[in-house]
Amino acid sequence: MPDLKNTTLHIGFDDTDSLKGGCTTFLALRIIELLDPHVDFIDYPRLIRNNPNIPWKTRGNGALCLTLRVNDEIVEKVVRIAIETLNELLEEDPNTNPGMVFVLGEVPEEIKQFSRKALTDVILISTTKDIVEKFCFKHYSVGNSRGLIGALAAIGNSLNPTSEDFTYELLTYRKPENVGEKRDFNEKSVVKADSKYSAEVFNNIDEESKKVLIAPAGPDPVLYGIRGENPLILLKMMEEIEVYESISSYCIFRTNQGTDQHFKFASSEVKNYNAFKGEIRTLEKPRTILGGHVIFQGEIASNEIKVDVAAFEPSKSFRNTIRKLLPEDIILAYGGVKYKEEFQGFTIQLEKCEILSVSEQFKEESPLCPSCSKRMISNGLNKGYKCRNCGHKDRDLRKNKTPIERTLSTGLFIPPAQSQRHLIKPFRRYNLPQKDSYFLIDNWWKVFPKAK
Ligand SMILES: [Zn+2]
Repeated sequence: MPDLKNTTLHIGFDDTDSLKGGCTTFLALRIIELLDPHVDFIDYPRLIRNNPNIPWKTRGNGALCLTLRVNDEIVEKVVRIAIETLNELLEEDPNTNPGMVFVLGEVPEEIKQFSRKALTDVILISTTKDIVEKFCFKHYSVGNSRGLIGALAAIGNSLNPTSEDFTYELLTYRKPENVGEKRDFNEKSVVKADSKYSAEVFNNIDEESKKVLIAPAGPDPVLYGIRGENPLILLKMMEEIEVYESISSYCIFRTNQGTDQHFKFASSEVKNYNAFKGEIRTLEKPRTILGGHVIFQGEIASNEIKVDVAAFEPSKSFRNTIRKLLPEDIILAYGGVKYKEEFQGFTIQLEKCEILSVSEQFKEESPLCPSCSKRMISNGLNKGYKCRNCGHKDRDLRKNKTPIERTLSTGLFIPPAQSQRHLIKPFRRYNLPQKDSYFLIDNWWKVFPKAK
């Protein structure tokens, strides 16, 4: 029989967080389950995290894309199933503005560019609608249509292995009757599995507090999510995590989490809510303000704009590094830009930072008396020093400059896992071999039959 699945279809969707069951990834799995008999999936569902600095973002600003091959005669049916499923799970909520976008065939360059902008910038709904109208086969949205932004961005961000870094996340889902109850699994089994597979998994444990991070808080259907480099290892790890409630389903996603993808396209432009990457010269000694946040003024090297630079309380020990900065130190700052009305100025909210150079600092003191060795005092402007002990005066003596030993060293500093945003590349992922491909493993998703 000839292969009739001759058309590639991309389905992007976003801002469905307040759906019944409350999670965009859950909608993805539901659509996969319904479409599976009719289509061939050619990629894992992609979970794309966009610019984390957008204040009106959905939780974690994550959007989804499904990529599949389908017989062109049933494309309309597939579109209908996807939209119907979204509507089935939709719950009336003024704060949820779901969007779903369908693209046939090759993804146009304009949509790829749009995706890069969505990682670092603020995008208007009107701009998005123009592109959707022009390039999308079908689209569907509810409310103010904000969900179209992430939906389109997820389609354009293909995480092509030859140019983009990517990771995997395996999410397990709870039975509906358990949602809202305390999540019941053995934390020790997570710690054990994490250390067993440490070279290929990340951010499952917070290294600083030893807290297990795999379970979300709140009443969404996710039991836990585990992150790593290899889908087969994630399946193994899932089997080794002891749970005391039954898992109803699971799915492996391919994602830009843990890749710093937003910083790849970020600049040192100072624009509200932008992702920022740029060299900053320290202008003052950092201070700790109410709430435990650490803040200092600096100047951006590329444009000489003065900004506040802040490390927030949740970044814990990362603040200790920032506190050690002194004037004239140079850092490569990675973070987000926020305009502060009350100061009429911009703050760079740090997500990580590289200390590029540590300035020489000196302690300046009056010289010691050449005849009695006591500390001298100034004899007035340009009049040198005098000794109060023996009366010796010397016009030519200068202040003693002694170097201060700096406790700060150059290098990369990243807050602990529990305060990292999804996109941040953790230490464990540095120096990994580059993945040059991906393939769909057997059992990349599963919905377990309901017990009779
Ligand atoms: Zn003296």
